[in-house]
Amino acid sequence: MDKVTLFLVAALFVTATLAAPKKIEVSFIDHDNIEETNDGGLVYTPHGTVIVGDIEIELTRNGILNPSHRWPQGRIYYTISQNYSSAIHDTIIAAMRELEHDINGASGHCIQFIPRTNQVTYIEIHAGTGCHSIIGFNNHGKQDVSIGAGCELKGIIMHELIHTIGFWHEQSRPDRDNYINIDLNNVKAESRHDFNLHPVTEATTLNTAYDFGSIMHYGVYTFALDRSKPVITAKPGKASDTTSMGQRLSLSTTDVLKIQRLYGCTEDTTHITKPTTLTKCTFESTECGLVIEHTTFNWIHGRGVIADGPHAGYSFGTDSYLIAVQSPTHATGVAKIHSPTYRNGPVCVDFYFYQKGPSSYLDVVVQGPHLTTTVVKNYHNNYQNNWVHSRTSVNVPVGTEFTVTFQAHMAAGDVAIDDVHIYQGHCV
Ligand SMILES: [Zn+2]
Repeated sequence: MDKVTLFLVAALFVTATLAAPKKIEVSFIDHDNIEETNDGGLVYTPHGTVIVGDIEIELTRNGILNPSHRWPQGRIYYTISQNYSSAIHDTIIAAMRELEHDINGASGHCIQFIPRTNQVTYIEIHAGTGCHSIIGFNNHGKQDVSIGAGCELKGIIMHELIHTIGFWHEQSRPDRDNYINIDLNNVKAESRHDFNLHPVTEATTLNTAYDFGSIMHYGVYTFALDRSKPVITAKPGKASDTTSMGQRLSLSTTDVLKIQRLYGCTEDTTHITKPTTLTKCTFESTECGLVIEHTTFNWIHGRGVIADGPHAGYSFGTDSYLIAVQSPTHATGVAKIHSPTYRNGPVCVDFYFYQKGPSSYLDVVVQGPHLTTTVVKNYHNNYQNNWVHSRTSVNVPVGTEFTVTFQAHMAAGDVAIDDVHIYQGHCV
């Protein structure tokens, strides 16, 4: 090797070294199993209070119709347990601020959450068992609001605090039987009363239309014994879009309107905070900008019951889903579908996952030219007949290119996904 060649090799080496900066590490936070924790159950507390699902109801079953159960001047005094981490404490405060922002609109003071000094009646937010709250103002001292392990997402906290403000669940309103069917045979006996209807003597619709997209509506599979079959279905023609049923992302327009009407405030629904969606897909007919990579296995659209697959998609009534079906002709392989390129990190990757069978599994992979390729989610067990709600906050710096890929590693068993929702920011 002569000197010139040696120089060129050395120069190339230096150039190559300069051109390969250190890759950015991708960190992520897993938020799975929230719904299961949120489902709670029937618990008797020392105070003679009964906890039903995530609502703590006084035994006298006071409804919101009684004006004495509204918080005077809309002022809700609170304490927050010292035992929370600062991150969870901040999430609770963020939930209060978002409620105030959305509800108060331009008018100022409809609902306010105020730190307690010496007020007699106040809420104590603490990590009890699951997520639950008393309905409305009870005028007899401290009221428990439990934000327990697994409940510490902003959307779930907002849901609990709307119970505190004075609301039952949307699907318990007096007119609900005109809109939904409930399959109580698919509900644990001890949870059936969570689907009780509150008659007009206890609750009011405040002249609003039934709201499938309320943050106070149960999900399709809440309290299901068999989580491949829906508990709540819309009556024919009653819902054009039920995919937001059970959402815990943000208040709906009707949620805000009802609170403003209950408290006699100015009606203004122009200030509602919504997450910025990057990709959302229920896989009814297209992949909504997600791209299937044609490999040994392909993702295909499934509908209805598939052997070893789900009974229906997650978004009931619109029952397609995306599935990779095991094949006897090629025993192993990978089915891949990737997102468009984003530069909007951090993001929340929110989707539903179904897998039955002993050895197929799903990876969710984040990659980009300047990132260390990272598996942010790995499901490798046999989940039987369950749709699993998966939520992962992925930390990628703003401006850095990346994609999210769903990879079904196929052996024995099918893998399905549905209702993919990727939005800006951490999971709420
Ligand atoms: Zn609730």
